[in-house]
Amino acid sequence: MSLADYPFSQEAAARVKEAGYSLEGLLEEPNQEPRLSRLVRRRAQDRVLGAVRGEIPEEKTHPLAELLSYPLARVMVSCLDDDLLSRRYALAEAKLASRKMAREDLASLILLAHDLDLHPQADQDCLRVPFSDYLKAAARMKSPGWKLVNRSLEAGWVSITGSELARLLEERARDRVARGLPLKVSQEVCEKLRPDLGQVEEELRAKRAEERVDLGEVTEEAFPPCIRGFLSQVAAGANLAHTSRFALTTFLLAVGMKVDEVVGIFNRSPDFDEEKTRYQVEHIAGRGGTAYRPPSCATMATYGNCPGMDSLCRWVNHPLSYYERKLKRGGGG
Ligand code: SF4
Repeated sequence: MSLADYPFSQEAAARVKEAGYSLEGLLEEPNQEPRLSRLVRRRAQDRVLGAVRGEIPEEKTHPLAELLSYPLARVMVSCLDDDLLSRRYALAEAKLASRKMAREDLASLILLAHDLDLHPQADQDCLRVPFSDYLKAAARMKSPGWKLVNRSLEAGWVSITGSELARLLEERARDRVARGLPLKVSQEVCEKLRPDLGQVEEELRAKRAEERVDLGEVTEEAFPPCIRGFLSQVAAGANLAHTSRFALTTFLLAVGMKVDEVVGIFNRSPDFDEEKTRYQVEHIAGRGGTAYRPPSCATMATYGNCPGMDSLCRWVNHPLSYYERKLKRGGGG
């Protein structure tokens, strides 16, 4: 196993320290090591662009440049100070690591696990992790198979398979990369990185425009404040709370949007899982036999989903009534 494959590991950080290169030194012009400096900057930019595009490509040419490019990429992400980019970046690094983990043997995965604060034990035919480690690593996993009640738990240990270990490691890697982002970076350093950041900013802008929520035939201007609020959060790449997600989905379906269109709206989330989202939206739309109605204003208020009244809100008790009344008045007018 090569450490450069997992530059977020503590061992990799120690190796970077030992190598004795400072960020300032690498960014200096003229530079003592122009070739290395160029490689590191280019690979760091690759990592950040990969996060915007959805995948960081693998590169094996120069292990030291690969290692040094990781802290520099974190600095670049921090200079841009964009919440969506930071989350995309952590996810893209974790996915890159996951592709590499798929080629590792179990002994190497266990080694990496210890570095990532997961402490598996392998007996003859059983792999298990401490209960508390499992809970931490599986916290974001929502499918029933990961729920503790569905796992074999014995004396504080949870049994897992080798591929589940790799999946848990991907989650730990994502947390490790996200930790501390955005870093505090001086203006001077960000200025030196300006030439590398221009293309990232441009692609990030294009990505936002491409992913802008498209509501098709529906008259968005007539949406009530609660629904407009959810849509802006989704557009900013935030994960909505369960009750907000339910209210938004039921509302959009009720005003005539198709399942595909509603699923498309949620794809701004950095950990968007199309299959899971489609299943949930289809279920809400009535695939299981019951089509759900959007919650009333009173229920919205109970769950903290009503942002407050505008003048029309005072006359309605349901977000759909708001929409209908506003349409009658002439859309956004
Ligand atoms: S009063 Fe009703 S329609 Fe208006 S923002 Fe609150 S929940 Fe939405």
